[in-house]
Amino acid sequence: MPSSPPKRGTVLVADDDPVMRMLMLEMLAQVGLDAIEAPDGAAAVELARSRSPDLILMDVEMPRMDGFAACEAIRAAEFSKSADGTSVPIVMVTGGDDLEAVTRAYEAGATDFVSKPINWPILGHRVLYVLRASDAIARLRIADAQNRAVLAAIPDTFFRLDRDGFYLDYEPGHERPGRGRANRRQTAPQAHSQPCIGKHITDVLPPEIAGRMLEQMRSVLATQQVRSVEYELEHCGETQHFEARLVATSDSQVLGLVRDISERKRAEEQIRRLAYCDSLTGIPNRQAFLETLERELQRSKIGNKKFAVLFMDLDAFKRINDTLGHNAGDQLLKMVSERLRETTRPSDLVSRGDSAANTHADHTTNLARLGGDEFTILIPDLERVEHALNVAHRVKEAMRRPFLIEGNEIFVTASIGISLFPEDGDDCGSLLKFADTAMYHAKNCGKNNAKLYSSSLTMQIMSHVKLEVGLRRALQNDELYLVYQPQRDVRTSEIVGVEALVRWRHPERGLVPPTEFIPLAEETGLIVPIGEWVLRTACRQARTWQRHAQRMVRMAVNLSAKQFKDENLSQTVHSALLDAGLEPRLLELELTEGTLMDDARATLITLEQLRGIGVYLSIDDFGTGYSSMNYLKRFDVRALKIDRSFINGLPQDSENAAITRAIIAMAHGLKMVVVAEGVETGEQLLLLEQYGCDMVQGYYLGHPSSAEDITGMLQAPLLLPAK
Ligand code: C2E
Ligand code: MG
Ligand code: MG
Repeated sequence: MPSSPPKRGTVLVADDDPVMRMLMLEMLAQVGLDAIEAPDGAAAVELARSRSPDLILMDVEMPRMDGFAACEAIRAAEFSKSADGTSVPIVMVTGGDDLEAVTRAYEAGATDFVSKPINWPILGHRVLYVLRASDAIARLRIADAQNRAVLAAIPDTFFRLDRDGFYLDYEPGHERPGRGRANRRQTAPQAHSQPCIGKHITDVLPPEIAGRMLEQMRSVLATQQVRSVEYELEHCGETQHFEARLVATSDSQVLGLVRDISERKRAEEQIRRLAYCDSLTGIPNRQAFLETLERELQRSKIGNKKFAVLFMDLDAFKRINDTLGHNAGDQLLKMVSERLRETTRPSDLVSRGDSAANTHADHTTNLARLGGDEFTILIPDLERVEHALNVAHRVKEAMRRPFLIEGNEIFVTASIGISLFPEDGDDCGSLLKFADTAMYHAKNCGKNNAKLYSSSLTMQIMSHVKLEVGLRRALQNDELYLVYQPQRDVRTSEIVGVEALVRWRHPERGLVPPTEFIPLAEETGLIVPIGEWVLRTACRQARTWQRHAQRMVRMAVNLSAKQFKDENLSQTVHSALLDAGLEPRLLELELTEGTLMDDARATLITLEQLRGIGVYLSIDDFGTGYSSMNYLKRFDVRALKIDRSFINGLPQDSENAAITRAIIAMAHGLKMVVVAEGVETGEQLLLLEQYGCDMVQGYYLGHPSSAEDITGMLQAPLLLPAK
């Protein structure tokens, strides 16, 4: 409390001795105080009531009413109390050696005493001192009342602890406004039932919270700065959050204000959820994953640990979106994330079974959806690479069961790329990028695959990109050309057809095999213009042979899935035939089973159009994909081309021999022609003839050759290769 000079007030001097009164008045006047006089106790009481003096100097021995009785009367009277509860200071003037009088004076309510003989020079100062002290007390009272009013008005709980952590005070706070009932709010579990005062903080709060509180308390006392502690308590099954602000009130006491911050926490959590959660699937989003990854990176660097990043992408998700609509696509993503969540529980992710690692692995953030159909999984504490591959395997397995969406059974597969810390990179950006790169590699390797990143992959991808650039120019630069492989009738050995096979002579790399550039062309959509060029060139060539060699040679042209889906396909075919002047029945389009079965409804429409034109259809690489015989019949397929992998091991491979024979029998049952691909030996040819195969194609009967060579073959007398 700051000590300001007391106001110069009025002193009531009660003494029956007029000389004494006069001297006192004189002394008081010297220090600037006014005075009023009373000759006895009764008059003093009356003047105290009527004039409200700031101090009373009261002699003990007086007639009518002595000083003690007057003092008691004034103390007892209502008027002596000011509004703030303070009362007028009364200084008794006692006999010099009268100890009993001093005691009685205090009992009667005196504030102080001076004893006779009076030390006149200091009397005025003594009175001033008492006035100042009383003023200070009055101010303290006001401040205390104000403090209590403030504490009563704020919703916070407040408590005071001594430096050892014992409660000196505890006042539970209110419910926040707007929360209904104005209840007192408990910030300590037993605070309501058992008063805290006198208890130690460790007996009131859970040990962990009490420990933190004590630690901060020590810091508050040492630094005299405000500190805060946030903690949670379970109350009626609900978690409540509190913030205790601790401030030193002296160098041995700490005042704590505890506020219920549950609502703020809930709001923060909501904001966090919005910022870090993928709204569709409810799992963490890209931002959350990046932050988790960064934390894991730091943790692993310090702890010398390894971890893996899995990057998963659904194969053909776009197709599901396109065919079933976005709602179905969304549902699928939700179901996929649910399965991933089940597959990537923390215990499944941590390769070592120690509990420290388990607690670290926060279930909700190890899995994330980056966007679209891309998901990432972080595997901490990786001990062996195999563990990452196992997780990838489990993820792929989890996708195997069909997803039931809007009554449709949807089958999806996933491609997964894996990057490792520290082997592949030591920053988040690189690790994520490399996992993505590995995922693309997995896709290129036939999808439904998991691949580890390796630096050679980057090289591969770069050359892939270079090849793509080259392929875009290939058509204009006349780098593509066609070769033709004869198809012979098994019985007559006559060339009854040829298959057109495209070749690319790269200006630097030389011949690039179609198995390398056709998938690239499909991926980039370049297959459509390339395919059209093949079709037109092949049709013109067939027409040339028909005209010059006078032979009806059926031209087989491969169609990729992309071309088949192209809505202009039938127009392109029609115009290619028309431009070349070729009869439609001399053109055969080779499709794979996958192409046909991809979307049976759309296929029927396209096939209808092609049939309308009058071209034939055959199934290429038969036996390697999946197709239903019923469909093949419905699609009006003319021929099945048995894939060369079945012919390869003949005649020794009895299993493939059985399959080949069964395919031939079945196709004949459905009135389809059978062509065997990849015939490389006379024995194979013989066996196929025995099985009743209709046509054969393969190195034994003719390599893919230039148009001129084929012209020669067509014109030459039939020189049969030995069977
Ligand atoms: P495919 O349609 O199954 O073509 C047959 C492939 O088998 C050709 O490979 C051919 O050279 C090869 N082959 C023929 N006889 C034998 C043999 O006796 N033994 C062995 N080991 N192989 C034999 P190629 O020309 O490398 O073509 C590979 C694939 O590329 C083709 O398989 C086809 O799917 C695709 N392709 C080729 N040209 C085109 C085209 O113009 N358009 C489209 N969409 N795809 C094409
Ligand atoms: Mg083919
Ligand atoms: Mg084939």
